[in-house]
Amino acid sequence: MMAGRSAPAPPSAAISQYVLKVHSRCDLSCDHCYVYEHVDQTWRGRPREMAAATLDAAAARIAEHATARDLPVVHVVLHGGEPLLLGPARMRQILNGLRTVIDPVAPLDLRLQTNGVRLDPAFCDLFVEYDVKVGVSLDGDRVANDRHRRFANGASSHDPVRQALALLRRPEYRASYAGILCTVDVANDPEAVYAALLAEEPPRIDLLLPHHTWDHPPVRPGGSPTPYADWLGRIYRRWVNDGRPVSIRLFDALCPGGTPAGTEAVGLGPADLLVVETDGTWEQTDSLKVAYDGAAGTGRTVFDHTVDEAARHPGVATRQTGLAGLSSICQSCPVVARCGGGLYAHRYRSGAGFDNPSVYCADLRKLISIIDRHPPGSAPTVDRAAAPRPPGEIPPPRRSPDRPDAEPVPLDVERILDDLAGGGGGPESIAFLVDAELAIVRALLAASRDATAPGPGWDLLVDLDTTAPATLRTVLRHPFLRPRLTSLLSGPRQPGSRSPEPDPVAALAAAAAVRAGISAEVQVPVAGGEVFLPTLGAFWMPSTGIDTVVLTVRPGGFRLLAGSEPYDVRLDEPAGWPSGWRPTRRSGLPGHEVIIEDLDPARDCYGQSVRERLAERPAADLVETVTEAWRLAERDVPRHATAMRVGMRAVVPLDTSPTGALRSATARAAFGAVAVGPVADPETLAVLLVHEWQHSKLGAVLDLYDLVEPGSPVRLSVPWRPDPRPAEGVLQGAYAHLAIAEVWHARAVADRPADRTAATHADRFHRWTGEALDELAASRSLTAAGDRFVAGLGRALAGLVRG
Ligand code: SF4
Repeated sequence: MMAGRSAPAPPSAAISQYVLKVHSRCDLSCDHCYVYEHVDQTWRGRPREMAAATLDAAAARIAEHATARDLPVVHVVLHGGEPLLLGPARMRQILNGLRTVIDPVAPLDLRLQTNGVRLDPAFCDLFVEYDVKVGVSLDGDRVANDRHRRFANGASSHDPVRQALALLRRPEYRASYAGILCTVDVANDPEAVYAALLAEEPPRIDLLLPHHTWDHPPVRPGGSPTPYADWLGRIYRRWVNDGRPVSIRLFDALCPGGTPAGTEAVGLGPADLLVVETDGTWEQTDSLKVAYDGAAGTGRTVFDHTVDEAARHPGVATRQTGLAGLSSICQSCPVVARCGGGLYAHRYRSGAGFDNPSVYCADLRKLISIIDRHPPGSAPTVDRAAAPRPPGEIPPPRRSPDRPDAEPVPLDVERILDDLAGGGGGPESIAFLVDAELAIVRALLAASRDATAPGPGWDLLVDLDTTAPATLRTVLRHPFLRPRLTSLLSGPRQPGSRSPEPDPVAALAAAAAVRAGISAEVQVPVAGGEVFLPTLGAFWMPSTGIDTVVLTVRPGGFRLLAGSEPYDVRLDEPAGWPSGWRPTRRSGLPGHEVIIEDLDPARDCYGQSVRERLAERPAADLVETVTEAWRLAERDVPRHATAMRVGMRAVVPLDTSPTGALRSATARAAFGAVAVGPVADPETLAVLLVHEWQHSKLGAVLDLYDLVEPGSPVRLSVPWRPDPRPAEGVLQGAYAHLAIAEVWHARAVADRPADRTAATHADRFHRWTGEALDELAASRSLTAAGDRFVAGLGRALAGLVRG
């Protein structure tokens, strides 16, 4: 090793965007403001105004960097607090200082972001004179705006802000009008917000997702999995229908081939922004203030450090590494090139830092799918998915989290839809659905943290996400976690009453810790006399009257302390189990965990009566039947069986039907689980499993894509029921019947003695599928993606005839 000379610090990427906090206080008191209302409170110790010497030093640093890097343009935004609190005289000094120092070395794009309430002709004259572009914050119509943007005394800011916008629309000031910044609140009516913003004739609109982290997640009213995508999607559709009358930066950036330049909210572009606070400290992007106190700090100042030295701060440098700086989940995401992992601040979680997907991951995925379905420049019902792909748009390769050693396979959402329509769906497509459903579960889990007081187990859960991610992922994939969380977030049914759902976090964390063999102790709630540990089993203690137990992980199992009574469970030693322990049963499929779920209370989500815990003999019979049925599915329809192997997690026993009819079911929220009534015959059960698995897959597709126009009133005739059905139900039926036709077709071709009726069944399901597809194709109720999907089903059906 060489000694004596330290290596020069590596160069940072060039920085061309700067936010100068020229005033640290504000005359509004918006309750969603990230400067004053979040965990970072550093503003309290800072000067109210940026002093002249500080401004001079900042301008000199920026000019020095622009010269050294030969920057073609420098962007400076004057910000606060509220910058207009400076008054016109001090504002003139600042504008003059910046133009004098920076303009000679690089063209200066000078902007100002204001709440607008003090904007007057004197300021506007100044902004015209110094060529300053002014952005104004407005959250929409009066109701939407006044939901958060109020004066400290509660008075509305709507009228003064609209007066400011009217001023900027005047011909003499129009050149200084940069646009409107609107923070999203899903409680507002998106159409009303859009109309109100458009009425102000802004050159550009910025729609900002409210700043939240995994520690403080966004609200998800009623447990809705993707309320922000749904809200933004409505505006997006209106915007496309209207012919995109104004630039909306988020949509422009997320569109295929869009340019995310200028926004850190999405995309893989390197961080290109530094902030100067009123005291001259260099800071990272302002939104980091929502993460933790001091999160945006760099420890550098304009007096002592160059721009390069500030940009070498690890927080800035990490955001300059593009894809490599993202979490492994984002790196394997098919839409990462457009999403970019979301805003850096939105990835934060205590313990794991920023090495996570965005807390808006599920929404971002869905919003991108909505945009793909209504690409700009097309009529709203024309899907780019149906058009030939322009060259060079294949997203980067991905690795499936379920197959980390597999070679990366190029994948994109259009191919996924085609793949799923054309057959069982390859492992990559199913892994995509699994990831999408996991993103929803994680979002709901985070939302539940705020909806209920964070209970015991959160710290352990967060820790396991880092120390045992694969094991935690297995537990989070338990199909009934989403219905449980949705129920929890739907809140009390009666005002003042408690939610019927206990917080599942402690039990989740405990189950994952036990499975990973990680030493831990956690308090777990007892609900209905039972402690349920997802994927492991349940401890039945109805007579104790205890409402929590302490679970301690021990080698090969765990100890439950109920009051002073200890119960030890070694998972691999059934002989020593205490009498209350009811283990989860599994099918006998080698290398693949499919649970026979007869314990989880949340499994009761099918609108049909589920069976209580099975006795030993019927349970053993069911395990045997499921295992054999699975083997038959592999024999008859291997592509479907492969897809089931990647995605299916549980079989739920249903009660006998009162009519004696054979029953099976899926629930949209319980991806990966199928429910079946009593059936002794593996050949029949194989058909039911394949059938219901189709519904489960299609449900996950529908979580991402509208295949039927939302709200379509169309009802269609189907050959398998006497009553007309909604188009989405017909699509579900066609998709399931196609797979059943495949099973019977395979059996007919094999011509086994036991399958003499196979050809008849194959013909019937083939005909039913074809008739349903014809109805759908003629219904005018499908979206463009739906048209594409139905066309794919038609091709698969035609291929079946040829086979
Ligand atoms: S959609 Fe989610 S996983 Fe994909 S890049 Fe964005 S945040 Fe990451």
